[in-house]
Amino acid sequence: MKNLLLITLGVIFITFLLPIIFTKQFQTYDTAVTLENNTVTNTVNEEIQYNYGEFNTIKLLHHDTMEVEEIDLDTYLLGVVSAEMPASYEQEALKAQAVVARTYTIYVIKNGNKHEAEGADICTNSACCQAWINKEDRLSKWDELNREEYWNKIEKAVNETKGKIITYNNEVIDAFFHANSGGKTENVSVVWGGADLPYLQSVETAGEEGYTQYSSEVILTKAELDEMVKKNHPEFSINYDEENCIQILEYTEGNRVKTLKLGNLELSGVEVRSMLSLKSANFTVQIEGDNIKFEVIGYGHGVGMSQTGADSLAKSGSGYEDIIKHFYTGVEVKDANF
Ligand SMILES: [Zn+2]
Repeated sequence: MKNLLLITLGVIFITFLLPIIFTKQFQTYDTAVTLENNTVTNTVNEEIQYNYGEFNTIKLLHHDTMEVEEIDLDTYLLGVVSAEMPASYEQEALKAQAVVARTYTIYVIKNGNKHEAEGADICTNSACCQAWINKEDRLSKWDELNREEYWNKIEKAVNETKGKIITYNNEVIDAFFHANSGGKTENVSVVWGGADLPYLQSVETAGEEGYTQYSSEVILTKAELDEMVKKNHPEFSINYDEENCIQILEYTEGNRVKTLKLGNLELSGVEVRSMLSLKSANFTVQIEGDNIKFEVIGYGHGVGMSQTGADSLAKSGSGYEDIIKHFYTGVEVKDANF
């Protein structure tokens, strides 16, 4: 009788209590942010790290100092997410950004050797790889009132998506993203030429017009326009007395300018955007007296995930996986396994 009782207790212990003890031990993210003397100190005690295999540690090139730092992948992502997306955005949008940034990082390391010469995998320059900011600088730029809440959101975005990456046909995707699509993203081949990628197609998103990144304008004098265009095209000439001396000839599927007639030139919208520093290739042009006015919709190249679109979808109840699947056609969100 006594033996039976002991055996029963033993079975109960093994079945119910051991898993609880182990789960607790291995899944504790002891994240404590304390505010002392206006500074935030943070202890992240992650007893178990996700195993990203060869991508556990990355070599990060600081583009300002040209120093290379070895840093674990998810710690690096805290700096990317907090540099790339406003922490005021919805938690699910921040999670989508974390998965996109993790995917982009692994893709760059797997498929390129951009920074091989510098002995690094990826750099901190947003124009080259992804923006990154160190924690101290990040915290000091946030208002003291929001500091703790914002940093917790960033940590949550990275920790609660630990291990997750985006794949298409079981391959890590090239996860482009941008600030605001203007309501419709762009096919990748339209922006950079080359082959189309099935997961980087034009998709529509509602609600992007409510963000400051949605509209902007650039006004140039005729002389300024002349100077800027002649840098790339010395043969440029234009007669403003001629009707249709500036005319949009063709649009892309994503509503951006595909071809613009500008005097004696025919230029792609992508080139005009870069030449005149417009925020996107979705623009209209008007001649107003001595000025040329460009009214621009959206911000960025328009390929892949729109960040304001992600926030807008999250506000209407989408989770991070839905957001990712909205912007990247036919993909899966999976645990990384290398
Ligand atoms: Zn780079």
